[in-house]
Amino acid sequence: MKPLIVANWKMNPSSLAEARKLFNEIRKTNAVICPPFVYISAFKYIQLGAQDCCWKEEGAYTGAISPQMLKGLGVKYVIIGHSERRIHFKETDGMINKKLKAALNSVLIPILCIGEKKDENPETVISRQLKEDLDGIAEKDLKKIIVAYEPVWAIGTGDFCEKDEAKKARNFIRKKIGNKVLYGGSVNSKIAKDYIDVGYDGLLVGGASLNAEEFIKIVKNAQT
Ligand code: PEP
Repeated sequence: MKPLIVANWKMNPSSLAEARKLFNEIRKTNAVICPPFVYISAFKYIQLGAQDCCWKEEGAYTGAISPQMLKGLGVKYVIIGHSERRIHFKETDGMINKKLKAALNSVLIPILCIGEKKDENPETVISRQLKEDLDGIAEKDLKKIIVAYEPVWAIGTGDFCEKDEAKKARNFIRKKIGNKVLYGGSVNSKIAKDYIDVGYDGLLVGGASLNAEEFIKIVKNAQT
């Protein structure tokens, strides 16, 4: 099975025209593309993802977007619990747990992001996040969740996780939950394949997914 590559555009690019250009350049990779919410309806694409969702289907939640709404726009995947949401928007594991349940309820495939900060122990954090984030999710639904191991210190820093460390974390996650595991954190085309070689099922790519040429190389290198 080919590795799954996910492009997380974060809050980029700043205009729809640029988003369309980037989308048209990288769609041929078949990677999952997660644009900002406001651009999603401009794209018809089988591998469309969103960067977050609310835990409610509708109601008085100003500024929020529901899984149901995303489903209606043809979205297939949703990133949940990204460290930037945990840090900047104070998302708790309790909120992430509710979001996962809501996403599964709307038949979206959740990509759950977990990972430690600089001075934290990876296994302690992974164990706690998996326990709290997945609490009460039925076995049949649990299987549908994709886990992304994203050490927080590696995100957007250029300070990627060495492959032996990444392999340890991947094996630890796999022992706890047999699901697909992606690696994310400063991935570029030179190191993309290393993570696949140590057992990851794919990659979550942030910054480098905004550069079409580099992103296409990442996908190619990871998938060969
Ligand atoms: C991310 O946004 O999930 C990510 C891994 O970002 P970057 O590739 O820029 O480190």
